[in-house]
Amino acid sequence: AIALGCSSTKHNAIATKNSLQLPIDRKVDSVLALMTLEEKVGQMNQYNGFWDVTGPVPKNGAAALKYDHLKKGWVGSMLNVKGVKDVKALQKIAVEETRLGIPLIFGFDVIHGYKTISPIPLAEAASWDLEAIEKSAQIAAAEAAASGLNWTFAPMVDVSRDARWGRVMEGAGEDPYLNSRIAVARVKGFQGDLGELSVAACVKHFAGYSFAEAGKDYNTVEVSNNTLHNIILPPFKAAADAGALTFMNSFNELDGIPATGNIHLQRQILKGDWGFKGFVVSDWGSIGEMIAHGYSKDLKEAAMQAANAGSDMDMESHGYIEHLAALVREGKVPQDNIDDAVRRILHVKFILGLFDDPYKYCNEVREQQTIGKQEFQDGVLDVAKKSIVLLKNEKNLLPLKKTGQKIAVIGALANDKTSPLGSWRIAADDGTAVSVLEGLKQYSGNTITYAKGADVAVGTVAFGSETKINTTDKSGFAEAVNAAKGADVVIMVLGEHGLQTGEGRSRSDLNLPGVQQELLQTIYKVNPNIVLVLNNGRPLTIPWAAQNIPSIVEAWQLGTQSGNAIAQVLYGDYNPSGKLPMSFPRSVGQVPLYYNHKSTGRPGNGQPTESVFWSHYIDVESSPLYPFGHGLSYSKFEYSNLKLSNTTFAKDGKITVSVDVKNSSKVDGKEVVQLYLHDLFASVTRPVKELKGFELTEIKAGQTKTITFAINQKTIEFYTANNKWEAEAGDFKVMVGGSSATSLEAPFSYTN
Ligand code: BGC
Repeated sequence: AIALGCSSTKHNAIATKNSLQLPIDRKVDSVLALMTLEEKVGQMNQYNGFWDVTGPVPKNGAAALKYDHLKKGWVGSMLNVKGVKDVKALQKIAVEETRLGIPLIFGFDVIHGYKTISPIPLAEAASWDLEAIEKSAQIAAAEAAASGLNWTFAPMVDVSRDARWGRVMEGAGEDPYLNSRIAVARVKGFQGDLGELSVAACVKHFAGYSFAEAGKDYNTVEVSNNTLHNIILPPFKAAADAGALTFMNSFNELDGIPATGNIHLQRQILKGDWGFKGFVVSDWGSIGEMIAHGYSKDLKEAAMQAANAGSDMDMESHGYIEHLAALVREGKVPQDNIDDAVRRILHVKFILGLFDDPYKYCNEVREQQTIGKQEFQDGVLDVAKKSIVLLKNEKNLLPLKKTGQKIAVIGALANDKTSPLGSWRIAADDGTAVSVLEGLKQYSGNTITYAKGADVAVGTVAFGSETKINTTDKSGFAEAVNAAKGADVVIMVLGEHGLQTGEGRSRSDLNLPGVQQELLQTIYKVNPNIVLVLNNGRPLTIPWAAQNIPSIVEAWQLGTQSGNAIAQVLYGDYNPSGKLPMSFPRSVGQVPLYYNHKSTGRPGNGQPTESVFWSHYIDVESSPLYPFGHGLSYSKFEYSNLKLSNTTFAKDGKITVSVDVKNSSKVDGKEVVQLYLHDLFASVTRPVKELKGFELTEIKAGQTKTITFAINQKTIEFYTANNKWEAEAGDFKVMVGGSSATSLEAPFSYTN
């Protein structure tokens, strides 16, 4: 502003936005030059919604203090405010009543939809359909933006190997490559053209949060540098490269230093090595939590450590607003660190167009016309169908016939219009999902009888409250047995309540909660023609079902259109194409269980041997019940003819891999053809198998398609003993198939 000849008045600050032809950096600097230290710190301060704008302005307590800060320009962002009316009222204060009139940025957890709910992210990952996932994020962004919001705290790109952790539902599962591809799709979907129907993405939780020991949320994290770089960081890097505007740090510690106070992660890797230009928001209260971690003496020290480590915005710990200005004056936080953080925040506000029009997102007519649109319902139905994974299908129970069948539907989840919405859908109302029962009834002329059998959970089940899982009530069993007795097919909808996963919802047991397993076995005794439809937010241990139940459909929590999507798959109007993004264990004792594990000095061959001294359990097989990448179809796919263009390649060269996939059935279908590599020896030990490519392709009945992949230097790079990403010369194996339990393989080598 000084360069532009402006003085420090609000009028002149706003005048900078008229110089639109200037590069954003210069506009940012011109605003920065006008700001007092307190105003700068204010930009780094984010408050949770504290004032119901329809009521009187807060006069006392914490809300009054926040209101005072807002008017002084000491608030840069707010979260959990929604709806054009509220957003506009708060924005008006920021823009018209503060000295400089800098607009607020409004954040919200739009994790898998805003009002129209998409499948939980783990379910969407099972679609392996990047286009459908991008579309789903676009729908979420459009509704949220129409409701006044401009920033979503998504995508979560934490690689999740431990099904006990409740937040596996929020991510894309156990594989870094799949996670990376999906992270990019989601960032693109949310941010779109950064127009009025887009929102800024926030990639979280940086980093290591999903590696909480024993899957217990917020627990201590112990990971090696090797795992950090090769497994945890790649999806974050991919999202940053895709242009994600913001990052969120995480609650956990990493090598003894909380991520929020971690210079190495935030300054060195993210902002340094990766050249990230956006800003980092802390996780909720995570600056203050460094005290409980035993890392900071008090909130003032925590604020100093976080700011110096590159946490640009304080979400609700108040450490910055209370202490940062003093810390700068005392020389404990360099002015440069403050200026860097504020530049980043202003930069994002400029990119979003908030300086040009702070009310860009505040249009009541658009809000009314956009939310819940038919087009969005169709979009979430589309991705919901694609997210369903057919785990097992014997005895030809599926697809169901549309007429002439007597169907018994059993299980509390079959009649549940809330659980399918899953966790993290705070703007959507309870009871707004299509239930399985409704879907099935709308969809056929069959005779359908329903019996609940048993509840899934008891206790208070509301967002933010505890979810008890110890239901013991079996009084509904008799009615369910009766319904099952006379039926041609029994559809049992079992699994987890929608809020048994999500933040703070870790489990030590992965069985069907309550008495559902017993219900399943009881019904099986009177009618074994069971289609088990699972509704859940994490892999479950279902060894008995896998052994005995003829058809098993993994239908996750599929959002608003859940029942319709499930009905279309059960009736064969959509031929299932989903593949598991996480391994399903046989027993909770196997967890963490993931396909891309390392070998050991004693890998064994998976078979019992004379000796007990090999890496295995004596009471359960080492393999998963259902492997990563597994998923059947009503079509049958056969793989053959794996060919490599060369058996060796050098720097700048490549190998083309081709495979024939035949649909040997009578129905058209879609298959996810998966390519894996094994780097046989290296400067650091490598996984036995790593996904390096996939193609979702439609193959007509009887048709054979040749699918090709390219392997080049990039494909084989990893974080080596030199502490950098590079390709090492050596021998490799390429494996191709319809799951991580691949059928075909061939060797090749790389020379550099
Ligand atoms: C979660 C974040 C979330 C934030 C704001 C935290 O508890 O860990 O993922 O974005 O709250 O709601």
